[in-house]
Parts: sequence; C-alpha cells; structure tokens
Amino acid sequence: MKAIRGATTVNSDSAEEIKESVKELLTEIKTQNALNPDEIVCVTFSNTSDLHSFYPAKAAREAGFYSAPLFSALEPEIDGALKKCIRVMILTESNEQPKHVYLRGAAGLRRDLTNIINIALDGPAGSGKSTVSKLIAKKLNILCLDTGAMYRACALKCVQSKIPVTDEKSVNEIISVIDITVKHENGVQHTYLDGKDVSEDIRKPEISMLASTVSALGCVRTKMVQLQREIAKQTSCIVDGRDIGTNVLPNAPFKFFLTASPEVRAKRRADENLQKGFKSSYEEVLADVIKRDEQDASRKIAPLKQADDAILVDSSKMSIEQVVDFIINKIQEKV
Ligand code: C5P
Repeated sequence: MKAIRGATTVNSDSAEEIKESVKELLTEIKTQNALNPDEIVCVTFSNTSDLHSFYPAKAAREAGFYSAPLFSALEPEIDGALKKCIRVMILTESNEQPKHVYLRGAAGLRRDLTNIINIALDGPAGSGKSTVSKLIAKKLNILCLDTGAMYRACALKCVQSKIPVTDEKSVNEIISVIDITVKHENGVQHTYLDGKDVSEDIRKPEISMLASTVSALGCVRTKMVQLQREIAKQTSCIVDGRDIGTNVLPNAPFKFFLTASPEVRAKRRADENLQKGFKSSYEEVLADVIKRDEQDASRKIAPLKQADDAILVDSSKMSIEQVVDFIINKIQEKV
C-alpha cells in the first residue's frame, strides 16, 4: 500500500473555486500516478479553517472518485501556516513509487509542523547543485546557501593578496582576518569579500581550481564550516557543497548526493561559462572537472563523499525539473 499526498490553495473561500482547485489537484494526481480507481483504498482531505463553503470530498466525487471512501477534516488554526489550503492523502494498493502533487503555491513546507529545516545537497563540480538548490529554495520558500562560493572567495582573497593557495602559513594568516559574508537579496546569494560584492569575480574559471586547492586546508575549512553552521542554525535552508551531509550538517534530516557523468557535467559547465562570457573549451573544462573531482575526493579533511544516509540522484539523464521534483517529493514525504 502507498500514500500519495497533494495540496493546493485557493484565493477565496468560494465553493466554485474550491471545487475547481480540488478537481484540478485530483486530476493531476490521477495522471501523474496513473491511478487505477479500483486500487484506491480511501481519500482523506483536510482544509485550513478559513475555508467553509464547500467540502473538498464532494469535489472528489465530481472528479471521478466514485466508489472510494472519502473523508474531510478541518485543520487547527496555526500561526504561520499556509492560508486557504486544501490537502489530500490518497491510500492506494498500488506499489508504484508515489508522485506527490503540490499546486498553486502549496509546495511550501508545513511551517506549522516543521521548525528550522536543513537540506544537505552535496555533489561534484557541475552536477547541477546550484541550479537545483536555487529552484528548490524558491519552491519551498527557504534560503539557499552555496558554500562553494565561500571557498571561491577564500581563493580570490589569496589571489588579491598574491599568496599561493598552497602556502598554508600565509593562507592561515589571511584566513584569520578574512571577512566573508553572504547576503540574500530577492532569493539570490551575494558573496561579499571584505565588504565588496565578489559574486561575479568568484565564478571565473581560474578561481575554480584555486578554490579546490585552498579548500583542502584545515584552517580554511574550520572557518568556513563555522560560518555555514551559524547560518543553517538560524534559518531553514538548502545548503549545497561537498561535505554538508558528512561534516557540516551531519544531522540534517534531508540529505541528497547529486551526481552525473564527468562528460555531462563538463558539457553543462562549458555551456554555463559560455553564457557568462567566460572563454573555455569543453576539453579544458572536462580536464578541470576530473582533476577537481580527484582533488576534492582525495583530500584528508572532509573529502567529497556521499553520506551513508544521503539519497543518491544521478542526473545524467534527468532534466533539472525532474531532479527538483524528485527531491521535493522526497522531502514532502517526510514533512
Ligand atoms: O561548488 P563549487 O564549484 O563552487 O566549489 C568550488 C570548490 O570549493 C570545490 O571544488 C571544492 O573543492 C570546494 N568546496 C568544498 N566544500 C564545500 C563546497 C565547495 O571543499 N562544501
């Protein structure tokens, strides 16, 4: 037996709108899950207490759920919970992987049930972590923390100070006084180094390898990890990096390890560089990706590694949207 979940919202407490939204939700659930009506065990609805004009269960009959037992319940009023929301849970005898469906802005986390929630997303260079994290953060209305940007800022600081990233003693000196802050403006992370917005400068391809080298130093990691933990403690966020699930947030309730073949990752990075106006050939990027993988995975401190309890997502043959949906579904299953 499997439980399929879903939710939707309405703009006003009107019978027509509730009926339409519920029908839309159930139709989408039926399609996405290829639901066989004979396999439905029961359908349970709940709605927030600001909706009075229509029983969601009644709309289910009109949406073709003719024989399954239906039940509607009222949710308690909780501060901060999503308003005018209708939720559904369908028990089915099918053993297919359930596809949960959230429409009309209902994907947001149940803030009434969850306090601060941290999602760890690790993976190698070019696996799509940043793109995926940004989209998930937007859908769930939480913060997205790109930890790679912090290591990139450390590398940039070394370049500015004309210090080789391998010179641990000198790096240690600048790291002890480095001022890195991240600010989120309209959901976009801006990385500041010594008060200056360096978000663009740190994306230059030559910074990537330097970031990988400098991030292997203990003094750099200690400082950055402390900063990352402070941010994650204060706010719900999806944190992307290499060691989030294993080291930065080992107790995060949600952990994912996103990967793809080196060729696919190099192609994505090369296209991204092109879009940003940075010159790089596919062959160069591929060599860089492979070398960074090796360097990140073989370092002594907090190497790139899938946490034992992380869910592996191989995105080689998946679109960004498929990866995002897969991860959100996994999260919603537990929340
Ligand atoms: O993810 P991004 O490519 O921006 O990361 C740049 C470098 O920073 C990586 O190659 C990796 O060596 C390092 N890094 C890390 N730990 C993290 C995030 C990034 O060591 N949590």
